[in-house]
Amino acid sequence: MTRRQLRIEPVSLADAQAFVARHHRHHPAPVGHKFSQAVTDQRGQRRGVAITGRPSARALNDGRTLEVTRVCTDGTANACSALLAAAWRAARELGFHRLITYTQAEEGGASLRAAGWRMAAELRPRNGWDSPGRPRHDQHPTRVRRFRWEVTTPDFRHAEQPARDEKPGPRCAFCTGPLGPATRGRPARYCGSACRQAAYRARTTTRPGVGSRRPRPIAEQPTGPTGEAA
Ligand SMILES: [Zn+2]
Repeated sequence: MTRRQLRIEPVSLADAQAFVARHHRHHPAPVGHKFSQAVTDQRGQRRGVAITGRPSARALNDGRTLEVTRVCTDGTANACSALLAAAWRAARELGFHRLITYTQAEEGGASLRAAGWRMAAELRPRNGWDSPGRPRHDQHPTRVRRFRWEVTTPDFRHAEQPARDEKPGPRCAFCTGPLGPATRGRPARYCGSACRQAAYRARTTTRPGVGSRRPRPIAEQPTGPTGEAA
């Protein structure tokens, strides 16, 4: 199913919760929200829901950030990325600057990447991921890798400290925001193209003779024969 055939519509928290209870693999539905959205196919049949609320991690609850606390689909192609994109559009229109969500390693991040999100942090492992809906009986305590994903407006500035549960990982060389764990290839230096370009501008404008160097006042001009101030 193409994204064009999918429609986003508002949904009450109760209806979103009911959908999650029927379909979701690991968790009960969240108890509160800022807004919830549903995606329907061309016949009007509901294929998924997304619930968005305040960030669960206090350090990330900065008044400018919302969290997609649950996204749940019946597996319809593109339903998940359509919901994630819609949640970000809505959050931005409400004036928020960052939207975050969490995945477990096994879930991958194809839908998130397709919707323009990036991996922002890996969380410290915690033991077990047992739930009433999906008990685990592993011999060892299950150490599930968990990741935080985010999408931000271009002018969003990250706090310098990682949130409590997050592994101190590599930081962006420009804004010091979190860099997602390296996936493959050369490790990234910047968290995104905005920071890469800003760092490039900063480099090129401070190089002598290049860019926008302001002329110094006369009194500071070099006067001696060696070029040093007298
Ligand atoms: Zn950055």
